[in-house]
Amino acid sequence: MLTVENVHAGYGPTSILQDVSLDVGEGEIVTIVGANGAGKTTTLKTIAGLIAPTSGRITFCGEDITRLRGDQVVDRGITLIPEGRQLFPDMTVRENLLMGAYRRAARDFQDERLEEVLDIFPRVRERLNQTASSLSGGEQQMVAIARGMMANPRLLMFDEPSLGLAPIIVSQVFEVVQQIAAKGTTVLIVEQNVYSTLKVAQRGYVLENGRIVLSESAEDLLQDDYVRQAYLGI
Ligand code: ATP
Repeated sequence: MLTVENVHAGYGPTSILQDVSLDVGEGEIVTIVGANGAGKTTTLKTIAGLIAPTSGRITFCGEDITRLRGDQVVDRGITLIPEGRQLFPDMTVRENLLMGAYRRAARDFQDERLEEVLDIFPRVRERLNQTASSLSGGEQQMVAIARGMMANPRLLMFDEPSLGLAPIIVSQVFEVVQQIAAKGTTVLIVEQNVYSTLKVAQRGYVLENGRIVLSESAEDLLQDDYVRQAYLGI
């Protein structure tokens, strides 16, 4: 479904991604594991059209999307849920969710879509008329995920969805990720919580200093001595 081939990308003169290649098949949950600063967020932003690669190719459902802008990538069916939620604090939960359906194709079906999305997030439904800033951190993260789903993406990319959340809420986030995948949305996820992520993912890539150094099934990565030592603290 998504293929990233030999991509180099960075910020101005600073090159971060070096020859990154990865693929995500339809219906999969795939994760990118790596230390702080390895380039995980940069990889997601490059796929999302927020950073232009200096070389390489990105294709999605057979179409070359390497040079598309962020809004065009969203139109193709790829949505990024950014790190840190980035909700509009003074807007209500409902208004925040509708911002996720601002693209034309999504806007025409926003009421039906809102109902479908709220079925997955009953707590969010109860808080539709509150301002986003009045929610707990966990509730805000659920709203951020729900907003991402409002665009009805085929591929949903998560950047650190469990960051800063209490353990019980973290497990709810992982449950939601699995639920979303079970409903047919493909998932690419970056997470500090490597063990839990590998438990829900089918495959994973290890990114170090902007390079992919390992690509295995999630099961094999969980057993890998190097991964256990470097990323699981075992
Ligand atoms: P983390 O887990 O800490 O979020 P990451 O693997 O997601 O790390 P990135 O955010 O992709 O890493 O950052 C990779 C490198 O790019 C880092 O060295 C970072 O300092 C640098 N970087 C990130 N954003 C910018 C920017 N806007 N301008 C310049 N350098 C940047």
